[in-house]
Amino acid sequence: MEALKFLSRSSVERIVATAGTPTYVYDERSLRRQAAAALAFPHAFGLTVRYAMKACPSAAILRLFDTLGLHVDASSGYEARRAMLAGVKPGRISLSTQELPEDFAELVRLGVTVNACSLRQLDRYGAAFPGAKVGLRLNPGLGSGGTTKTNVGGPASSFGIWHEHLDEADAILTKHRLTVERIHTHIGSGSDPEVWLRAASLTMAFVERYATVTTLDLGGGFKVARMAHEKGTDLQIVGAPVKRLFEDFAARTGRKIHLEIEPGTFLMANCGAIVTTIQDMTDTGASGYRFLKLDTGMTELCRPSLYGAQHPMIVVPRDAARPTTRAEYVAVGHCCESGDMLTPKAGDPEALEPRAMGEAQIGDWLVIEGAGAYCAAMSTTNYNSFPQAPEALLKEDGSVVTIRRRQTLEQIVQNEV
Ligand SMILES: *Cc1c(COP(=O)(O)O)cnc(C)c1O
Repeated sequence: MEALKFLSRSSVERIVATAGTPTYVYDERSLRRQAAAALAFPHAFGLTVRYAMKACPSAAILRLFDTLGLHVDASSGYEARRAMLAGVKPGRISLSTQELPEDFAELVRLGVTVNACSLRQLDRYGAAFPGAKVGLRLNPGLGSGGTTKTNVGGPASSFGIWHEHLDEADAILTKHRLTVERIHTHIGSGSDPEVWLRAASLTMAFVERYATVTTLDLGGGFKVARMAHEKGTDLQIVGAPVKRLFEDFAARTGRKIHLEIEPGTFLMANCGAIVTTIQDMTDTGASGYRFLKLDTGMTELCRPSLYGAQHPMIVVPRDAARPTTRAEYVAVGHCCESGDMLTPKAGDPEALEPRAMGEAQIGDWLVIEGAGAYCAAMSTTNYNSFPQAPEALLKEDGSVVTIRRRQTLEQIVQNEV
């Protein structure tokens, strides 16, 4: 059997006994390690690390990161409320959203900070809180990301106030007597470290433009290596020139700027896996493919269908004594949808690509790794009326606890009238 990132045959057996399959499992030790690495991001004059909770918003994860000293980046009013429900103090929550909620003023009164992500949001914020302090999310004109769907900067991205519209922003600031205290950018997920750095230095120009800014939030987007051939980001390496940027800025202007970063993927991606069962197999003849049919699919993991994303897959034979040879398979999901496949060609969600893995038999388990970020949080829940899968936490002492139960059929239909 191939090596697993944080599981072992015996932990897989314990997870299956506790939660059945398919189930998500998160590893406490890995979560603590990633949080520590994020908190060690190089900085000159102070650092706040915000967990971008959209990556995996379960209360147990939010609470763990909260106790470790991470703050929260919320992408909607609902996320901000959900973090509060989990026990996160509103003062630790920052909201950067495409849709400023109707009740944003109430969130702000509770202590949530807002980065205005459009001119319209800035105007609404100013009308509700004249004379207040505010953050501005800007699109610096440069983006990066593994795919166009994960690129959230540059001219093809609607996120943030376009850098050429700052005169209009200034007019709104003046109208409502607002003070800019924070500049925020987030240019994309799976960013190239070079581009990330260039965006950071571009963004410094905006800090300079607003003399009242005390905090610069550079967002997340740090690439992680899910697959063995991929290269992840070393935060010490990306962070060192960022720290110099802040020091140089201080030497030139006398302003000591506080740094914020907002990792989601970096904190979660390799800390989660999906434990599944190979419930059937088929093939399409000598010139076709051998298929593994899993008891999971886009209902738990839609990154492969959405982005052609690659996730490691490890066959765990039900019979520990069975000798394992290698074989090539296409792994498909359980939805009646040809797009529900888990081994797309890299970067091409339209094409299949057989993957070498251990020889499989029906009834074996298959572990899908790199599934901590944007998996449980982002899937076609209840498609084909499959119930939402449970989530488990593998504790540091080796015990397995359920942090979310499997949904029931009654729960799937509970809001129907
Ligand atoms: C999604 C998001 C992040 C996190 O991105 P990752 O690529 O998961 O690190 C950070 N900040 C904002 C504003 C986001 O929307």
